[in-house]
Amino acid sequence: MRSASFTLFPGRCLLCGNPSHRALDLCAPCAADLPYLDVACGQCALPLPAPGTCAQCQRHPPPFAVSVVPCRHAFPVDHLIQRLKYGGELAQVAPLAGLLATLLRERPKPLPRALVPVPLHWRRQATRGFNQALEIANQLSRTLAIPVRTDLVRRTRATPPQVGMARTERRRNLARAFVVSAAPVPEHIALIDDVVTTGSTMEALARCLGQAGAARIEVWAISRALLAN
Ligand SMILES: [Zn+2]
Ligand SMILES: [Zn+2]
Repeated sequence: MRSASFTLFPGRCLLCGNPSHRALDLCAPCAADLPYLDVACGQCALPLPAPGTCAQCQRHPPPFAVSVVPCRHAFPVDHLIQRLKYGGELAQVAPLAGLLATLLRERPKPLPRALVPVPLHWRRQATRGFNQALEIANQLSRTLAIPVRTDLVRRTRATPPQVGMARTERRRNLARAFVVSAAPVPEHIALIDDVVTTGSTMEALARCLGQAGAARIEVWAISRALLAN
């Protein structure tokens, strides 16, 4: 189920339908209007009034070193992600991953040695037909020449949605949700997802890869949603 728009009308903006006048799926005015996450916690990407580390990360440092997230989970990025996830519009993958790739180009090197998409439980993946995190990781892999490793970690349990749970409850819910299934794990890994909401999933995944020997773990996602904690 590929989106017809860009396949049939290349050079048209995915958001407004006007000619994009460039080899991108968004026109320049729409791209300039995106809800960029300008100032955020370097570790968890929580929006902050000034650059630094948020109080939560200072109190409980997460098991990952940095988060690289270009946008807030707001219009129109939230709609593009919805169209990808629930509408099966794989045409959204390239422009969304492009936002992340642009931000990564401005960052100091070295790049990670492996991209690990957050695994879906097999049952959910079978229902949806694809894993959006894997689609984004594959696109970034082509752009950045970093291999995607889907063999490193497995989701052992289908976890109910984390939204609405307290922090300790979320952690308990996710404990043993992932197991490392290959060894050795690369030293420097980027975890990939579409949206980071509470960060609990990334924490659980990073913790288990860290215990398996990954020394530096980064979180890469397209958008950061906010949740009252
Ligand atoms: Zn446009
Ligand atoms: Zn933080």
